[in-house]
Amino acid sequence: MKIHTLFTGVANTHLIVTAAGVIVVDAGMPHQARRIVNAIRNLGRAPGDVRLILITHGHIDHAGSAVALRHITGAPVAMHPGDVRLTATPSLKIPPGRTPATETLGAMLRACGGIIPLETFAPDVALADGQSLREFGFAARVIHTPGHTAGSISVLGDDGALFVGDAILNLVRVSFPLYWEDAGVARASACKIRALNPRVVYSGHGAAFDLHALDAFVGKHCG
Ligand SMILES: [Zn+2]
Ligand SMILES: [Zn+2]
Repeated sequence: MKIHTLFTGVANTHLIVTAAGVIVVDAGMPHQARRIVNAIRNLGRAPGDVRLILITHGHIDHAGSAVALRHITGAPVAMHPGDVRLTATPSLKIPPGRTPATETLGAMLRACGGIIPLETFAPDVALADGQSLREFGFAARVIHTPGHTAGSISVLGDDGALFVGDAILNLVRVSFPLYWEDAGVARASACKIRALNPRVVYSGHGAAFDLHALDAFVGKHCG
């Protein structure tokens, strides 16, 4: 298994290349599908090799090119039902800020939210906590890690690679998300992620980090 991460406008898209095909974790901002497909080709695979387009949660920086990517690859789009409301309408949806500064930024973004509409969709595959992804050629399971959004999910590969979306970020340092629908639930999800003992964590924002870095952040929050 090989993991390739590319920056798709605001967030990361992770390409997981297995013997069985390619899994796309998050679809980037709108108009990023061509870049993602080019990256797949550069890895020696074809668009038709994509087995699943997995959306960690329904925000535009992760779901923006899902429809275009589905059209090019023919692969199904998978998401947790808890976020279907986020991708059902084109308007920008940013949860309350974690700090006054991020709330101010969020309010500004909401005010200009009509500039880039989301291409709406309903997922083809509804992901559930504990679900195996083996049928899509990926030895991994889905972990429900809500809080940032109600339908936020993580994906834990059998080899210890963990994809967390925006449940935990690594912008300046490993930290909680800038925005969250439910702070208490988000904190509990961070502890749930720690308890998985991942070998390496791939966030929606920032570079991948190891268990040591995760511990340095989350250790003080979890009992
Ligand atoms: Zn994001
Ligand atoms: Zn998000």
